[in-house]
Amino acid sequence: MAFSPEDIAEVRSRTDLVALISEKASLRRVGRRWTGLCPFHQEKSPSFSVNSEEGFYHCFGCGVSGDAISFIRAIDHLDFADAVRFLAQRCGVTLTEDPTQAGQSQRRAGLYGAVEEAVEFYHQRLLSAPDAGRARDYLRSRGYDGDVVRQFRLGWAPDEWDALSVALKLPAKVMEEAGLGFTNRAGRQQDFFRSRVTFPICDPSGKPIAIGARILPLRDGEAPDPRRGPEPKYKNSTETPIYVKNRTLYALNWAKADIVRADEVVVCEGYTDVIGCFQAGIPRAVATCGTALTEEHFKTLSNFAKRIVLAFDADAAGQNAITRVYEWEKTHSAEVVVAAMPAGSDPGQLAREDPETLVAAIASARPFLAFRVDRVLVGADLSAPERRAAAAERALAVVAEHPSDLARDQYVMSIADRCGLDADNLRRRLEQLRRDPEARAKLLQDRKTQSRREQNEPEPSNAPRPARLDPRSRPGLEALRIAVHFPERVGTRLEPSLFIDPVQRSAFQALLSAESLQAAVDGAGDAEAQLLRQLIVDEPMVEVTEVGDPVEACIVQLVRTAALRSLDGLLARARTEPEKFAELSEQAASTRRLLEELVEPATSVAAEVALVQWISEQEGALP
Ligand SMILES: [Zn+2]
Repeated sequence: MAFSPEDIAEVRSRTDLVALISEKASLRRVGRRWTGLCPFHQEKSPSFSVNSEEGFYHCFGCGVSGDAISFIRAIDHLDFADAVRFLAQRCGVTLTEDPTQAGQSQRRAGLYGAVEEAVEFYHQRLLSAPDAGRARDYLRSRGYDGDVVRQFRLGWAPDEWDALSVALKLPAKVMEEAGLGFTNRAGRQQDFFRSRVTFPICDPSGKPIAIGARILPLRDGEAPDPRRGPEPKYKNSTETPIYVKNRTLYALNWAKADIVRADEVVVCEGYTDVIGCFQAGIPRAVATCGTALTEEHFKTLSNFAKRIVLAFDADAAGQNAITRVYEWEKTHSAEVVVAAMPAGSDPGQLAREDPETLVAAIASARPFLAFRVDRVLVGADLSAPERRAAAAERALAVVAEHPSDLARDQYVMSIADRCGLDADNLRRRLEQLRRDPEARAKLLQDRKTQSRREQNEPEPSNAPRPARLDPRSRPGLEALRIAVHFPERVGTRLEPSLFIDPVQRSAFQALLSAESLQAAVDGAGDAEAQLLRQLIVDEPMVEVTEVGDPVEACIVQLVRTAALRSLDGLLARARTEPEKFAELSEQAASTRRLLEELVEPATSVAAEVALVQWISEQEGALP
């Protein structure tokens, strides 16, 4: 099952991504990249883009991105190993699927051992180390006593670069393979988790296979550690031979007995939601590990119980997975129901504040389709005939996605009843919508925007990034694009502190600390990897023209924007710290001089160096 990283790299580099994708979608060459209609969503103008040299694709419409292996996995619904085997055969790579069975099980045993030792190390640190006091305070404030900490083997990864590496004394290769550490650019071994509360992720038998970790929230008035830059709230081990995210469910090992007993499993989004359910007396909750629910998960769950309760927002139930849930229900003969959470709350929070409501929401969970139809009709304005017709039509668009005509018809009758409309008319409209996925998608889209407006929710985070980018982050995006495609032109001129947008900043950090683009994507968080893949398929304009060199212009723009922001911070400080007013306004004046010098050819190089240094210092001092 496990392949060597060298084999996987060989398969990736030998696969012609353009040829592979061309078998499923037609691509056209535009400059150095290829573009075409996206095979993952319906569209009329091409927003799917492929970079064949780097071997990545990205869709600017629906946001999917990945490499050859993830393409085959998604298109042909294969697991990782089968996708690698398929591609290996296709490009003629002989996989050494472990020289001997013994060698493989020994290697896996080594990884299990390493993760177990890490979980225990972190757990003991949390229980007794003086530096874990803050973590203990935080957990207590969430209502987690010692019993909870022991039951879920929570831990504390200390605020040090290499505490775990030093304590475990394992070979760097094992630490890396187990997803616990990495070797930084300077060749030094570093821990993967630092200054985080850890949640061990186990296989169903209870053996730890990975770690999920959360940063501590900042205390009132506390500034983030300037040395570290913005970080994701949650971070998971990278995938390893013993940890496959699409297959793993957090807490299944603790929950399975009660899942089987109740023939019901509650699926949450986060580790703390699961622990909350246990505390509220529902010890049959699990969570996916930072991914959407996959069919692989679904299959596992349906082996344990036939009733699958989704304890999260139905829109969050994975826009992309929604229609497939009905197929999964059929294939794996399980029933999916949705627990209606009060607006704006999650199970973890409810368990603390109002456990009875959580228990009631799970007990009264409704079939997936009924829940979705209700979301359309409850709260819709049914006062005038036109409004009733519009609401009914939106509800029909939801119903149209269900594959069973018997199921659909029951919902048609209920909608006719609730909206006071003729059922036969609705049936005819339903059949039209069944044949017209585009009209359906439009109605569903309208509904989403409408309900978001009603609830004042922000637009979803998977909306195409450029549209919602803070204009001040635009220079960062361009600079990152150049750092991806022309690292030699960026060299050591840029610092993470120049990037205002946190995702761009950590994506740049990932680039800095990786030896290749592939390694940067692999080592980055989900949002950062997505952004990097998008940039990799996107070709920058870098030809020098009579108006100047776009790379230079871009770097100057980045430094300038960051300097202006730091200048704002400085002036804000000058207002609140009158005793430093003179010193700070002196600094502001010299910064403004540097900004002028930055655009003068004779002085720009020196001004840039001085500004970048000044910005890094300021970023450290900013609130
Ligand atoms: Zn797409």
